[in-house]
Amino acid sequence: MDNNQGSKESSDRTELVSEDGKNTKSVLCQRCGSKVLCPAMAVFTETELFLPSMRKKSSLSTTEGSVDGDNLTAHWLVDDMYTFENVGFTNDVGRIKYLICADCEIGPIGWHCLDDKKKFYIALDRVNHA
Ligand SMILES: [Zn+2]
Repeated sequence: MDNNQGSKESSDRTELVSEDGKNTKSVLCQRCGSKVLCPAMAVFTETELFLPSMRKKSSLSTTEGSVDGDNLTAHWLVDDMYTFENVGFTNDVGRIKYLICADCEIGPIGWHCLDDKKKFYIALDRVNHA
């Protein structure tokens, strides 16, 4: 699967994604630096998911009406929650659980649907890479 699109966005990402599509760097919380994933533990994937704006856990599970947030397309995909070094979850929001930092509880940094237990997504835009 060659990805020769050559856009600016993907040239940024070539630093983060290895030739076999995995993360070259550790994935860290943007706020406290807690380690979420070790290098080469996740696979880069593009799929459009809606994540509410970053906030503390307490206000994440009380979603009334419309929620402001972003449609994000670039994610790290992990098939087993034990792959994570540290990660927390919100309470279910419908069939969705959002992934949050296990230490400072900021989020959502990722997305998980209860209908597919083998797909945990971490949004590249919501984490640091180091
Ligand atoms: Zn944190």
